[in-house]
Amino acid sequence: SSSSNNYDLSFKILLIGDSGVGKSSLLVSFISNSLEDLAPTIGVDFKIKLLAVGGKRLKLTIWDTAGQEKFRTLTSSYYRGAQGIILVYDVMRRETFTNLSDVWAKELDLHSTNQDCVKMLVGNKVDLESERVVSREEGIELAKEHGCLFLECSAKTRENVGQCFEELALKSQVSK
Ligand code: GDP
Repeated sequence: SSSSNNYDLSFKILLIGDSGVGKSSLLVSFISNSLEDLAPTIGVDFKIKLLAVGGKRLKLTIWDTAGQEKFRTLTSSYYRGAQGIILVYDVMRRETFTNLSDVWAKELDLHSTNQDCVKMLVGNKVDLESERVVSREEGIELAKEHGCLFLECSAKTRENVGQCFEELALKSQVSK
């Protein structure tokens, strides 16, 4: 049988947040298990990863914005059917953090019809600790406000990258 059918559950996960926060890098870092090629990415549309979580084989279909977030015109079809949403900011750029409330949470309210959708707030680029401007505590606070799980990570060093997707998938599974 085809290996793409070897799963028990399937999840659609979205990455959203400002341009340049590292959405594509997180996806590439998670999928490829490799550290090289962290150049600015052209959008990848979506990638599939099979994962064993909580004794189940999960198929994650993870959607990236393909750069469309620059125009803030992600379409309803991008959001439709999403079971997990990863909201990403850059810990070195405060406006990417404030835009999650000012822009992206509102976008989600407009488009997302799925009430059991699990959300994860992710502060990326923590490998550049000395240049950080958004504190971990602020991240925790915002996550609480918006009912999100929370993690800080680095697509560059891959610190916590697997956890972002795995914890989201696990939580989505539990909430079913
Ligand atoms: P996107 O527009 O949100 O998809 O962002 P990209 O994935 O294209 O990343 C934007 C830039 O940030 C690129 O130059 C990446 O190499 C860089 N970048 C992404 N993640 C990290 C990270 O964890 N640490 C560092 N230092 N740079 C990163």
